[in-house]
Amino acid sequence: MSKRDYYEVLGVSRTSTEAEIKKAYRRLAMKFHPDRNPGDKASEESFKECKEAYEVLTDAQKRGVYDRHGHDGLDPQRGGFGGGAGADAFGEMFGDIFGDIFGGGGRRGRAQVFRGADLRYDLELTLEQAVFGDSVSVDFTTLGECEKCSGSGAAPGSKVTNCETCGGAGQVHMRQGPFAVQQTCPRCKGRGKIVSQPCDPCLGQGRVRRKKTLAVKVPAGVDTGDRIRLTGEGEAGRSGGPAGDLYVEVHVREHAIFERDGSHLSCEVPVSFGTATLGGSVEVPTLNGSVSLKIPTETQSGRVFRLREKGVKPVRGGTTGDLFCKVVVETPVNLSEEQKELLRQFETSINGQSGGHSPRAQSWLDGVKKFFAEKLS
Ligand SMILES: [Zn+2]
Ligand SMILES: [Zn+2]
Repeated sequence: MSKRDYYEVLGVSRTSTEAEIKKAYRRLAMKFHPDRNPGDKASEESFKECKEAYEVLTDAQKRGVYDRHGHDGLDPQRGGFGGGAGADAFGEMFGDIFGDIFGGGGRRGRAQVFRGADLRYDLELTLEQAVFGDSVSVDFTTLGECEKCSGSGAAPGSKVTNCETCGGAGQVHMRQGPFAVQQTCPRCKGRGKIVSQPCDPCLGQGRVRRKKTLAVKVPAGVDTGDRIRLTGEGEAGRSGGPAGDLYVEVHVREHAIFERDGSHLSCEVPVSFGTATLGGSVEVPTLNGSVSLKIPTETQSGRVFRLREKGVKPVRGGTTGDLFCKVVVETPVNLSEEQKELLRQFETSINGQSGGHSPRAQSWLDGVKKFFAEKLS
């Protein structure tokens, strides 16, 4: 599971105070609270994410671990600081001593390496960017390899020696009654090496937090929820382990005109009363410029016209979707006295006839009559 940067989740800076973090959390928790968004999965996820970020960043110890070691520093399965572990466990886990990179060896007794954590970045795109693709720049904070020690954790000039306790294997065997138990070496924490002087900027961890900017190529046709994986752009690994990946998750913003449903687009097209009645044509916007749409005579409000292949070409291939244009007949406004008088004459003329000019009203009236007839019977 990849995770977003906790500071980004709460929208606070790395130097924000506990009060600022609490305030940001309260605001977001209100917004995403399940009681206020019943049945909304995305809100529920956001709520959980905020809660987790809040719990870590308001705990001075966990925040410290996160600042130095990122997500996997807090993940017990990745050799990190587990929820139940106390200060001693933390000290044990991230002591000043640190090993080097280990090569070779059999599976057994091989020193441990840790892959860096995967990261998630939420990328907002306009509909046009999502449909046509784009190259966008993303800024995020990650744990990168320390430049001073090249990730070894050893200060320049310091000595790196094999751990005497485990002989460089990173594992020790302990006798417990009749059983021999293999354990991570308590002295070198499984790294197999001891450095005489830890590197300063990274406190011997080989990794430091830094801002990173990447150009991300967004393929045409992506939609909300799609993820673009950037291999090796997540947090740096430890003890020579490979870096995690960065998952850029797409969120398409609402568009002023179009609504998207997969590969299909839809929009409303206002049509004047006269054009809807007598027929004509209107200009309809598409993402590739406007096209002319023929409006047949006696077009009712709400009628939907389908423009084939004016939708979105899906990112995973397949046919281009369609554009559905829903006609909305406009009621004229700001009429002059003369125009109003013409309409009155028109209404009188319509009402004087035997009917058949208002199909919807007719079926509605029939429905009303039937409804009352059933009720009274
Ligand atoms: Zn360093
Ligand atoms: Zn050892």
